[in-house]
Amino acid sequence: LPVIALSGVNKSYGRNENSVAALKAVNIEVAHGEFIALCGPSGAGKSTLLNILSGIDRPDSGTIMFFGKMLTALSEQQLAVIRSHYLGFIFQAFNLIPVLNALDNVCYPLLLNGHCRKKEARARAQHYLDSVGLAQLADRKPGQLSGGQQQRVAIARALVHQPKLVVADEPTGNLDSATSEAILDLLLDINQQTGTAFIISTHSAQLKARAGRSIDIRDGQIDEN
Ligand code: ADP
Ligand code: ADP
Repeated sequence: LPVIALSGVNKSYGRNENSVAALKAVNIEVAHGEFIALCGPSGAGKSTLLNILSGIDRPDSGTIMFFGKMLTALSEQQLAVIRSHYLGFIFQAFNLIPVLNALDNVCYPLLLNGHCRKKEARARAQHYLDSVGLAQLADRKPGQLSGGQQQRVAIARALVHQPKLVVADEPTGNLDSATSEAILDLLLDINQQTGTAFIISTHSAQLKARAGRSIDIRDGQIDEN
């Protein structure tokens, strides 16, 4: 059973003569443990595709199956449950909560979604901070961390509830090349150790080269390699 399968997905913005077709008849299957780079120029449809994969946005037509469950038939509330239990998100701008320290940023989704109580959440969050190399920086706030360290916190936060699929939108887009490489090493390592599937939009040739598979998108259409 694929982790996620999109078939015949269409998405447009606007209407009538101002309409922009952002995705055209897109078919994609992500298998367990895959590490996929999603590549294409600005405006190609990468963010739209990631938003649809993660149930943040709905397609105009087509179906999305997540472990055999039809996401396109679920209510907003049911989708929110799927997102909070089975998906992890990593963003270009890290999206950490500035007033919370690293540990509390990683705890936050566990507490918000009632996955566990505070004591267990803190223990799990510390474990994930250790695994991304931030054992000693748990009490720092985002403003007291470098960009690469902030992205490590965000990675720990994306993984702490052990999602089946991590969706990342240009996770190295704000980082210098050495830091990007270290973050890529970390993501590949997590993928290999946990079998969590990743789909990552990127402009990085290096990320594309090291991914298990790359999907090219241009003008809303997929061109698979
Ligand atoms: P990226 O290239 O990093 O994916 P973009 O600058 O294309 O980012 O888009 C950033 C956000 O703005 C996305 O959430 C996208 O949905 C939205 N967006 C992009 N183009 C438009 C547009 N023409 N009108 C309104 N929102 C847009
Ligand atoms: P990418 O992430 O590859 O840069 P996007 O998915 O952001 O591409 O955008 C795909 C196309 O859809 C672009 O033409 C963009 O301008 C348009 N678009 C994206 N979001 C919106 C939006 N909210 N409203 C109108 N047009 C949008």
